[in-house]
Amino acid sequence: MTTVDPTLKSFIEVHPDSHFPIQNLPYGAFRRNPDSATHIGVAIGDQILDLTALSQSGLLDTPLLAGRNYFGRGTLNFLMAAGKAVWTEARETISTLLQADNPLLRDDETLRRAAFLHQDAVAMQMPVDIGDYSDFYSSREHATNVGSMFRDPQNALLPNWTWIPIAYHGRASSVVISGTDIRRPVGQTRPDPEKPPVFGPCRLLDFELEMGFFVGPGTEMGQSIPLEQAIDHIFGMVLVNDWSARDIQRWEYQPLGPFLSKNFATSISPWVVPMAALEPFRMAGPTQNPEPLPYLRGETRRAYDIRLSVTLRGEGMAAPATISNSNLRHMYWNICQQLTHHSISGCNMNPGDLLASGTISGPTPDSYGSLLELAWRGTKPLEIAPGETRSFLQDGDTLALSGYCQGDGFRVGFGEVSGRILPAVQ
Ligand code: MN
Repeated sequence: MTTVDPTLKSFIEVHPDSHFPIQNLPYGAFRRNPDSATHIGVAIGDQILDLTALSQSGLLDTPLLAGRNYFGRGTLNFLMAAGKAVWTEARETISTLLQADNPLLRDDETLRRAAFLHQDAVAMQMPVDIGDYSDFYSSREHATNVGSMFRDPQNALLPNWTWIPIAYHGRASSVVISGTDIRRPVGQTRPDPEKPPVFGPCRLLDFELEMGFFVGPGTEMGQSIPLEQAIDHIFGMVLVNDWSARDIQRWEYQPLGPFLSKNFATSISPWVVPMAALEPFRMAGPTQNPEPLPYLRGETRRAYDIRLSVTLRGEGMAAPATISNSNLRHMYWNICQQLTHHSISGCNMNPGDLLASGTISGPTPDSYGSLLELAWRGTKPLEIAPGETRSFLQDGDTLALSGYCQGDGFRVGFGEVSGRILPAVQ
């Protein structure tokens, strides 16, 4: 059976613009009330199928799922660790139960009342206990733009960039779910290079349009993941906003890379889209020149056609303004290369580790993935509404990322990841 067949329909009504048709079935974690237990579910249309509740019915007791309690643990880590055979069986089982011509769940009113909720009626939770988070720097356009601004436009890319999927180790414990308010950080900056640094609220607060993937089965220290096996170690993807304090970053980042400029918060979207749902949208990535070293050389159809957009809404604005449209397909280093490179040293990978792409900038100025680039370091402020311009984020701004794959008559989407900026506390 194929769970991505475009002709599949659910008995739950799904609008063609919905991000959550039966071809998607992303996993998330949610609470019905602040003091209730965290359940696992899949999104379908504007509903959630509560898998934790449905498990009681026995309908999920298939050979690989029975007795394993994959949906009763409050996070997806155990399911992620289980590997592809279990993922496939779970996905096919859930898809079958939701299909329009299957009466099993469709015609059981009691079970339907227990197992379906409206998405508006729940509070989404972190779906994964993230042990480690790394952030790559894999968009050539982004790296070139930043290199041009801060170094030399003639030599914008550092010599290692076309050979190594560059990354830094981020802060896992400050990865938060969409909707979490973001407090403007304070820190040390050096606005005047002729004078000593100063301490105070970040003045150049930015977002980064990114996507990330969760590691499935892990590895022991000393092992690595060969490129051709990497895809089997990847569970699914989310949208990622790597909030960035540009003035703090500029002063601290040499020689060891970003630290306090990034560690105060990173936001993710609540629904984890399985790689199986993205498979129809897989395509060739950008040509890699020079040819990568052998351990990074392999299948080139590892890009994904995921349309991304960014909206910004200031406190006084009636509606959000779209400030960028990009696409994951522009990313130079693909997710398999990122995972293989991360592990090649013998670094152990664990189920639920989050590896993010880095800012996904497209080739045109309206497809850049950060305000730093969109307003070109403050030299070209964006007009986002009459009388409202932005070079960086202001207190009260709400920034949201959204993304989807366009199928034939349906969308496989990620929903959104949003966050509102709160004033600094000193
Ligand atoms: Mn980043």
